[in-house]
Amino acid sequence: MLGKGCFARLPELLEQREKATSLSGSVLVIDHFFQGKNILDLSFLSSADLVIWADTTHEPTTDYVDELADKVKASLPRPSAIVGIGGGSALDIAKAISVLLTNPGKSAEYQGWDLVKNPPVYKIGIPTIAGTGAEFTRTAVLTGPVKKLGINSDYSVYEQVILDADLLKTVPHEQFVYTAMDCFVHNCESLLGMQNDAMTIAMAQKSSDMIKEVFLGEMDHEKLLIASSMGGLAIANSNVGICHPFSYGLGYVLGLHHAFAICVAFNQLGEYYPEVETFKKILHKNNIVLPKIITDGITSEQLDHMAELTLMNEKPLSNAFGPDWRNVFGKDRVIELLKRM
Ligand code: NAD
Ligand code: ZN
Repeated sequence: MLGKGCFARLPELLEQREKATSLSGSVLVIDHFFQGKNILDLSFLSSADLVIWADTTHEPTTDYVDELADKVKASLPRPSAIVGIGGGSALDIAKAISVLLTNPGKSAEYQGWDLVKNPPVYKIGIPTIAGTGAEFTRTAVLTGPVKKLGINSDYSVYEQVILDADLLKTVPHEQFVYTAMDCFVHNCESLLGMQNDAMTIAMAQKSSDMIKEVFLGEMDHEKLLIASSMGGLAIANSNVGICHPFSYGLGYVLGLHHAFAICVAFNQLGEYYPEVETFKKILHKNNIVLPKIITDGITSEQLDHMAELTLMNEKPLSNAFGPDWRNVFGKDRVIELLKRM
């Protein structure tokens, strides 16, 4: 559903779910930014529904998701639907909880590819920041005990999505830029990777065009939501490339937020991605100044750990360089680039 104010249609969708499932009550996983503010009209909720305020100060960990899933299991184990409302973090938390309600064990057991066996609870995604495309992708990215890795599964896809530009009004400009750059980088990785197709290319190109129109021209929240959606659809049908593996290493070891880590990494990848020039123009026009070298002063063990985490991303790196990627992209090269980031 697309349009300003269409969040008001949520009660109607939930009612349809209750009728279709003969279950009562839904779970709403909402970014804690909205708690205690009168931005979302939640007056339709009843005592059968459960609201989980997702703390997104840090990006979702497997432990945190397990804790929230246990809470849901204790009070509403069979909801008619789960609604994720927020940026990439809240949207991914809701996806993961929906998987855990119908599959045994802990979330870390499902980090990987196609490990989810049972269909999860029906999900409705409502982004309140544009960029990650999480509302359309087949992954729920979680930081686990060993690595940051998604629950990559057809069961991680939202069944319905509500795109309401009114919900983006409160996003700080800097956050808009960072999260949109995540989308911009997904698009570049998708376009220059080996696993794309005509539809993916069309979506990624259009998504990047719209992002440029917004950040080198005029801000338009609805356009950003569409750019994010198309970027999400493109990346869901292709793969990331060189930048995301670096961002996972940087993010894990230094505790950086995903979109920020992406910007730090992409800034130094001009040799692989010509669009780094446009990216730099966007940052400049929007007054974003990245730290000079974020890895300055880290220990050699930390550097080594980051390089190892980067090189663990076999699928993205083979998307970027082909199946023999190890021959052209070794640890020395990764460390050399990390030292510039
Ligand atoms: P986020 O969800 O982490 O939120 C960033 C901040 O914005 C938070 O403080 C949040 O409280 C606040 N916020 C949310 N909505 C707001 C609003 N309308 N107004 C004001 N503040 C608001 O940010 P993000 O960049 O959207 O998501 C990052 C996460 O998404 C990372 O965990 C990343 O790994 C994940 N991700 C997932 C996918 C996917 O396909 N599933 C893709 C890319 C990134
Ligand atoms: Zn990303």
